[in-house]
Amino acid sequence: MQNDFNLIKHYLTVDREIFNREVRDKAFATLITQNRSRVFITGLLALTNVCTNNCHYCGLNRDNGKIKRFTLDDETVLSSIKVVKDLGLKRVLLIGGENPQISLSQYIKYVEYAKELDLEINLAMGVFTKDEYKILKDAGLDYYTIKFEVSNSKIFNQCNPDISFLERMKAIRNVKEVGLKLGTGNIVGLKNQSLDDLVGDIQLIKQLEADWVPIVPYIPSPNSIMAKDTPFGNVDLLLRSISIIRLLLPKAQITAGQPTQDSKLGFSDRQGNIDALLHGANKLFVEVTPFALRKDFEITKDRKLLEFEKIDEMLNSVNLNSF
Ligand code: SF4
Repeated sequence: MQNDFNLIKHYLTVDREIFNREVRDKAFATLITQNRSRVFITGLLALTNVCTNNCHYCGLNRDNGKIKRFTLDDETVLSSIKVVKDLGLKRVLLIGGENPQISLSQYIKYVEYAKELDLEINLAMGVFTKDEYKILKDAGLDYYTIKFEVSNSKIFNQCNPDISFLERMKAIRNVKEVGLKLGTGNIVGLKNQSLDDLVGDIQLIKQLEADWVPIVPYIPSPNSIMAKDTPFGNVDLLLRSISIIRLLLPKAQITAGQPTQDSKLGFSDRQGNIDALLHGANKLFVEVTPFALRKDFEITKDRKLLEFEKIDEMLNSVNLNSF
């Protein structure tokens, strides 16, 4: 598919039957041929829910006084990374708020330990300087993930009071310039986001040649600023976006842990996950965050993930394999 504004917009709105035939089925076929039917299973560890920022769509915003804040100590981080290895997984994502209490040398320690265990490692911890990205890459970091959230700079600046769109884009480009693989993507259904904005989001993901696309629908998060007046994003538009991105970036990883429109099961919804897989998504997460802390890491509401034990059966049901 061409990265063409009008074509992408057409497919975001065309009759579902036509979309399925001309885009969804081709996206799934591309997943099978270009990725050998593989779905990338990754351990997810939330390092901290402390954040200096106040993003309007996020439940971890600094003004939310209703969650108990935590930061894992080094021992817990390293033992949780070991859990990922013991589960037989090949990769780990460390994720958290922008927390200046965690030092660069701690991140280096986590990266080096993951590499000792022969794990691929991805960090999603906010904005670092270009030099810091380079230091982390030299320590063995494989991926850095930093989302642009929405390609419309006006909307971005409205809902991100602590950083401008230009600064965020510079941080994203820095990740690429030091040679790290890039995780980046958008939120479908942010306040004031139009269909044209969503087309722009998809085009930007392609322009950036994202290696992982952590696309999600907007899910109102308790005690976030946007939740007061913005409903759950449109899952049909999310699924269409996934298929279009699969055709634009045949080898990219795209998040398959997705909800259905009306489910209370959040990202752990088996049907939501299957729908995303059939639209060409191919990345799932297994939570290794200490159990007692998971409820305090609600970036979005119902941030539950599918249990590890249920993944293989689900993938087999659509003729895909865990990898
Ligand atoms: S989205 Fe990230 S940077 Fe923004 S408030 Fe949430 S954790 Fe902090």
